[in-house]
Amino acid sequence: MARKSDVCAFCGRKANEVRLLIQGIDAQICDSCAKQAYIIIKEQFGDDKPKSKLDSKGLALKKPAEIKDFLDQYVIGQDEAKRTLAVAVYNHYKRISQKVEADEVEIEKSNIILVGETGTGKTLLARTIAKMLNVPFAIADATVLTEAGYVGEDVENILVRLLQAADFDVAAAERGIVFIDEIDKIARKSDNPSITRDVSGEGVQQAMLKLLEGSVVNVPPKGGRKHPEQEMIAINTKDILFIAGGAFDGIERLIAARKRTNVIGYGTGGNEVIDKDNMLQYLSPADLKKFGLIPEIVGRLPIITHLNPLDEVALKRILTEPKNALVKQFSKLFAMDHINLIIKDEVFDFIVEKAIEFKVGARGLRSIMEAILNDAMFELPSEITATELVIDREYAEAKLEKSGLKKLHAGD
Ligand code: ADP
Repeated sequence: MARKSDVCAFCGRKANEVRLLIQGIDAQICDSCAKQAYIIIKEQFGDDKPKSKLDSKGLALKKPAEIKDFLDQYVIGQDEAKRTLAVAVYNHYKRISQKVEADEVEIEKSNIILVGETGTGKTLLARTIAKMLNVPFAIADATVLTEAGYVGEDVENILVRLLQAADFDVAAAERGIVFIDEIDKIARKSDNPSITRDVSGEGVQQAMLKLLEGSVVNVPPKGGRKHPEQEMIAINTKDILFIAGGAFDGIERLIAARKRTNVIGYGTGGNEVIDKDNMLQYLSPADLKKFGLIPEIVGRLPIITHLNPLDEVALKRILTEPKNALVKQFSKLFAMDHINLIIKDEVFDFIVEKAIEFKVGARGLRSIMEAILNDAMFELPSEITATELVIDREYAEAKLEKSGLKKLHAGD
């Protein structure tokens, strides 16, 4: 007969009948009884993990103001978009960390849509938020997506990319952020969807809807087409935050038209003052629908915000101020060769002028800087005596002229 010390004091099973016997002062408990006990405790008292700044899934829940402060370090201007995003992201991760009790209010997911010209910081904002939260982040370009069965990428591939960004940690991917770029490009082309089969538009929107509304999607882990023999990974999109972005060229006209109709319709006598130079501030879901997004998609992107075009002052700040500012990046590259890079203020003005002239916005700042500095980056590392490089406007003009960058953009 087994000694008393060799049996579980709860179920009586012997040491060799259980996986583990945990020793108490003068009794033991086996692993399965310990598990049972834990379940009973949980049922009785709920999950009483200590409340900390980290939520139950390990996310650092930052306050909206802290989120905005973080964004300010990397993104210039766009205050309204930042504030809206900060609140949306805060609520989203609060929602994820919420334990839904039977009678409690369930917070619905709020995906976001950013509307603004190309190169104004939409992707940068989404990327910076993901960096701050330390969650997996993927960018998908809506233009390459098609509904299943057509040439192009299936919508599920968006999740494959997120899964890859999460190193195939499904749980991490399931609370990541996906940025869907150029969502305006899958707008329905005509107001009447039945006239022609619109492969690139409505079909993709329908397919995307499945991701946005929160459902379990089977994805082929290696991407590409689904085929029957392939092993699939199930990903629940319920807690994935989707941020869509698009330039929505021409939407200002739709906004203006709606505003005019409203003014007449409600008999306000046309007294409402409309700031015609910044129509995007009046953007509403109705305009997105009019532009060609299906109502279901608009409904799943309830948080709408806009980005402003970047003016000269903003472009100049982008060159020098953000944590990763271009000037800081180039200075670092030169410093690694023990060369002190000094760029005169007049050069920044020149770069900004050119970016505006070439109509490349913030996106073009880098190519202009590269063109100006390329010769120096080629030559100086071999010149052992070089310790300093001073760039003035004359130098910048000459190098840019030589680079041919001007010709490259003159045609567009
Ligand atoms: P979008 O997604 O709106 O087309 P991006 O976010 O990709 O534009 O911006 C392109 C690049 O321009 C960024 O990588 C960044 O270097 C710079 N940029 C654009 N807008 C800003 C901004 N508001 N603040 C700082 N950098 C910006």
